Amino acid sequence: MKIAVFGTGMVGQALAGRLAELGHQVTVGTRDVAATLARTEPDGMGNPPYPQWATAHPEVSLTTFAAAVAGAELVVNATSGGVSLDALTAAGAENLAGKVLVDIANPLDFSQGFPPSLFVKDTDSLGERIQAAFPGLKVVKALNTLTAELMVNPKALAGGQHTVFVAGDDAGAKRTVTELLESFGHTDIIDLGDITGARGTEMLLPVWLRLMGTLNTPMFQFKIVR
Ligand code: NAP
Repeated sequence: MKIAVFGTGMVGQALAGRLAELGHQVTVGTRDVAATLARTEPDGMGNPPYPQWATAHPEVSLTTFAAAVAGAELVVNATSGGVSLDALTAAGAENLAGKVLVDIANPLDFSQGFPPSLFVKDTDSLGERIQAAFPGLKVVKALNTLTAELMVNPKALAGGQHTVFVAGDDAGAKRTVTELLESFGHTDIIDLGDITGARGTEMLLPVWLRLMGTLNTPMFQFKIVR
């Protein structure tokens, strides 16, 4: 499949690398290609700058959000939640129409420091805001409740015996995303229904962040026992 990954951070890198490894044609979208390729410093989490990752992944190309989406069947949103609508606007609603969007972003507000709060919750969600702003997109909320490494390599923890969720309005898009998650190695994928299901998975973040501090590692994930 031809896939556009929006995001040059650790999530964008993890998704782009794994999708390319699985044989997909992957293009990463960024705001300013030259600026991204000029980065020399690790990000705030200590991850290597994009050019270092790109050197090890010559099969993945880098372009603007709008160019990345041209011809893509599926788009991954791995941008910072507060600016996801800006990134999608830059891609252009007409370019996005009819495409499946895997929305991994979380609506985290770091303006008051750590831990962040959620800038939308309870009766709305970032997933819903994206769907409302881009009605032509088929938004599927997925993978926002686990660390990047486990998103694409679930078997790295407990043999992959943990749970991920999908939520979205379009049944066909959810099937496509579920198959993609299965190709990563996920085996327990719960369909939470329409895109309002994103409220619950985004509101897991305060618990997730507290667990990361308590366990002192991001290598954990929820398992729904039933
Ligand atoms: P991030 O630092 O949250 O986001 C990086 C991306 O946001 C970059 O591609 C950047 O574009 C884009 N961006 C920043 N400001 C922008 C603006 N004004 N307009 C358009 N785009 C802008 O990266 P991340 O840590 O990889 O996380 C990505 C998303 O996944 C976040 O929403 C996060 O909450 C979610 N998530 C992360 C994890 C994790 O393990 N880190 C787990 C679950 C969910 P440029 O390329 O142009 O710089």
